[in-house]
Amino acid sequence: MSSRVRIDIPAESGFGPEHLPYCVFSPAGEQPRVGARLGDSIVDLAVALDDPMFAQPSLNAFMAQGPGIWSEVRQRLQAAADGEFPAAAVHAVSAVELRLPIEVADYVDFYASLDHATNAGRIFRPDAEPLLPNWRHLPVGYHGRAGTVVVSGTEVIRPCGQRRTASGTPDFGPSQRLDIEAELGFVVGAGSVRGEPVGTGEFADHVFGVALVNDWSARDIQAWEAQPLGPFLGKSFLTSLSAWVTPLDALREARIPLPDQDPPPLPYLQDRAPWGLDITLRVEWNGHLVATPPYSRMYWSPAQMLAHMTVNGASTRTGDLFASGTVSGPEREERGSLLELSWGGTEPLEVGEAKRTYLEDGDEVVITATAPTASGGRITLGEVRGVIAPARY
Ligand code: MN
Repeated sequence: MSSRVRIDIPAESGFGPEHLPYCVFSPAGEQPRVGARLGDSIVDLAVALDDPMFAQPSLNAFMAQGPGIWSEVRQRLQAAADGEFPAAAVHAVSAVELRLPIEVADYVDFYASLDHATNAGRIFRPDAEPLLPNWRHLPVGYHGRAGTVVVSGTEVIRPCGQRRTASGTPDFGPSQRLDIEAELGFVVGAGSVRGEPVGTGEFADHVFGVALVNDWSARDIQAWEAQPLGPFLGKSFLTSLSAWVTPLDALREARIPLPDQDPPPLPYLQDRAPWGLDITLRVEWNGHLVATPPYSRMYWSPAQMLAHMTVNGASTRTGDLFASGTVSGPEREERGSLLELSWGGTEPLEVGEAKRTYLEDGDEVVITATAPTASGGRITLGEVRGVIAPARY
């Protein structure tokens, strides 16, 4: 008979049975496979649940099964959590390599924070209304580059490009205004049919879970190229995604009312029971906490983002990722980008002993987050981490 083990879950770990985020991991020398986290351990689901659907290099096959199977698997894991698992199914998180958890189909990035959009408007267009006329009517977004979404921990090679200079003409070289954007990403599990918009009430039929995102941004490249079209090379070089996808069900207790929307949105963006999420992000720069962006303040809900993304008849696919846009609050220490924290580079901030505006080579940024649970504790969303490497030419 094969041996069985019990998994100890440290108090306050943030990874108890009420969380159970999923990952793709490679045990030493083995093919990548799907796991779920309990404490500091990963449970190999293909072994523990005896199901080859999990012996895959991404979550996509599992996600494509839809919400009935998602909740069935979660219930089986929760029922098993305080018992014993086959020893062959249990690995230490520290002993394995974590991979990109999903095969990213399409990637969309929104701009759903009123505080971020207002700050960015004030910085980029100081003499105009900070919000453009469409902002309170639709969740502004753009299609990004799915092929450069990478797992947390991947090095961030400083991008080169045309940089706006004070003279008004561009030069070429490494970005000198390399920035972060602290965001929450939503992962589509079950896709939708082209021509059939996904209503705000159908969010949970399609969205599998959430993961932290750092949408690295080169502000000097962005400021020059994005006239009049939106983000392009200033964003597409890299987007980091956490290795851990938190199931939507684990955030049930984090649901909160949305802030008031004025004017009321058009009917297709209205929701009978609108909700936001009480998730607090933490941004650490070289080990120093520099911001605590509150997701609770986001103006547009995740359901509104998905409804808007599909209202023209565009379909979604398993593995689609749509991110919220930078999460910012009204206070300085709640801003989720260095653009805002340094107010366009004009107000350096203290990073430990150093005074800094944008990222330097060798800098490390780690974004984490927590959300409330039914028992009064908090779950910890899996971190997204990146270190800046020098430009390659
Ligand atoms: Mn972004």
